[in-house]
Amino acid sequence: MKNNKRPNSRRIISVGQIVGWLAIFALAVLLFNKQGPKQAELDYSDFKNKVAAAEVSDLTVAPGVISGMYKNQDGQFAPFKTVRMEDPDLVNQLSAAKIKYKAEKDNSWLGNILFNVLWIVLLIGLWWFIFLRPQRSDGKSALNFARSKAKMQDPSQQTVTFKDVAGCDEAKEELEDVIKFLKNPKKFQRLGGKLPKGVLLYGAPGTGKTLLAKAVAGEAGVAFFSASASEFVEMFVGVGAARVRDLFDQAKKNSPAIIFIDELDAVGRRRFAGIGGGHDEREQTLNQLLIELDGFESKQGIILMASTNRPDVLDPALIRPGRFDRHISVPAPDLKGREEILKVHAKKVKLGADVDLKVVAKGTPGFVGADLANVINEAAILAARADEEAVTSADMDEAIERVIAGPQKKSRIISKHEQRVIAAHECGHTIVARLTNHSDPVHKVTIIPRGQALGYTLQLPLEDKFLTSKSELLDKLCILLAGRAAEEIVFGEITSGASDDLNKTMAYARKMVVELGMSDKLGPIALPNGDDGEVFLGRDLSRHKTYSEELARTIDEEILTLIKSSYARAKEIISSHRVAFDKLVETLLAKEVVDAKEIDEILGLKPVAKEDASPKPAEQEPVKEEPKAPKAEKPEAKQAELF
Ligand code: ADP
Ligand code: ZN
Repeated sequence: MKNNKRPNSRRIISVGQIVGWLAIFALAVLLFNKQGPKQAELDYSDFKNKVAAAEVSDLTVAPGVISGMYKNQDGQFAPFKTVRMEDPDLVNQLSAAKIKYKAEKDNSWLGNILFNVLWIVLLIGLWWFIFLRPQRSDGKSALNFARSKAKMQDPSQQTVTFKDVAGCDEAKEELEDVIKFLKNPKKFQRLGGKLPKGVLLYGAPGTGKTLLAKAVAGEAGVAFFSASASEFVEMFVGVGAARVRDLFDQAKKNSPAIIFIDELDAVGRRRFAGIGGGHDEREQTLNQLLIELDGFESKQGIILMASTNRPDVLDPALIRPGRFDRHISVPAPDLKGREEILKVHAKKVKLGADVDLKVVAKGTPGFVGADLANVINEAAILAARADEEAVTSADMDEAIERVIAGPQKKSRIISKHEQRVIAAHECGHTIVARLTNHSDPVHKVTIIPRGQALGYTLQLPLEDKFLTSKSELLDKLCILLAGRAAEEIVFGEITSGASDDLNKTMAYARKMVVELGMSDKLGPIALPNGDDGEVFLGRDLSRHKTYSEELARTIDEEILTLIKSSYARAKEIISSHRVAFDKLVETLLAKEVVDAKEIDEILGLKPVAKEDASPKPAEQEPVKEEPKAPKAEKPEAKQAELF
């Protein structure tokens, strides 16, 4: 057994403890003062009347106040006080009435000061108690609100290496330099190597940016400090800047080291973005960060790394040469990358013989590293729950769907009629998705509720496409609207079930017209989309009115036209396959889940060969799209889609 207590550990009284005790003392004194017998406050005239009637006694006459006992309405003697007035005759009157009195020196100012000081002590104590005390739990000193909450990892505990990061070989390659430098800064410089101070990793959440940064520290065997930028932006102005300073100080003491700042955009957004967006806490923090960045030499053996999924909103000052000047993209993994990531994580669980990670990778397009880690984890939990020896392929399938749509909600009770509506709605999506030429393959359709969805059609996109054609987007609109169309055709009544579909439809249609220049009437125009993630009023105002009223009207018309024609097309596809559609609905109601193979059987289609299967190819002219750079600024991972 280990005994961690040191035998002679001395008690160290911290500032915090002193403040705490003072506060308790102050509180006690104040309470005690309040608890003295209640003194009635008499007007001076009443007091004089009582003197005349000899109804007061035991007076203490101080320069500002007279106190003592008086006879109240009940005829009882009770304490009183009154504010003293200029009254030279008072002493004579008291003597005449034979009232006992004594004088008191003026020390009320002392009392007042003491009283006020006690209040201040109490308030400080309270403040310390509320805001600062919780941070003591990490065992550091008490007054550490200006300390950064950064976590430090010793090189000795550093266990993550490049082996643990799968599938981002390009990013790893770019980081090799950084590792070489951290391993031996002096040698690196002697050989003339010039190093960036700051490395910015950008990519969608969960693609492994934090993991990569940790692995760099692990490979180089240096200390790793990590902090989330949002931690810097706290309630009190100035705290963020102080924390940044402290973080760098700590790292310098432990150099060579890596400082990793997560979610850099939380402090690093463009300044002067809004009205009055001048001197806020975030900006002070950003300024401090810039100062620190400029202030340290790479000689000191510190590399700053940061991650963001919005590199486009960062303040240009941050990404200037000499600051975060090396930008490394960490994209969502491709098929091979996904398989490798799955392999890394599958090491921790026991896989059954029927699990082929290649197949799992194929079934998870658009998944990032974090999702894949999650799939393996969920599958392992499911296997354990079912008391299985190893994770089966069925566990994997269920885990994938869990990650996409949340856990099944079999217990949700849905009426027979509603089930019919849901089935028709989903089959509408399914049949149109299957019968349009430019859509992703339908994986399955189900009316088992999961997560927020009452039922869904699952489409898995084909691998690695960087361009989306107009035909594909038109098909997508049609598929999205097909749920609503089916409801109308079958029941002559529409429901709220399509609201999410309608929102998506609107977003896609707008994007086509306004951003992608895919409207016939307007031609190849792109208007400022305004999606720079800023919510400040200033930007909105300045963006207003970059195009004419007339153009605005045409845009609206074009969006409407797109949506209406897509809806009509969806209805037409369903109506012209009504027999197969009805059969699909009945099968779905009976079995709750229908997979791709059965869908094809019911629709009388040959699997996969989509081209010859289409009813009447709605011919669209193939439209060439502006090639979007694969390294898109705003990474938009292709995801499996639910309707
Ligand atoms: P980010 O910082 O990009 O949001 P993280 O690095 O925090 O993502 O990734 C979260 C988790 O996902 C990691 O802890 C790891 O388990 C898993 N993961 C992500 N990317 C990878 C990868 N390329 N290889 C292995 N695991 C990964
Ligand atoms: Zn729907």
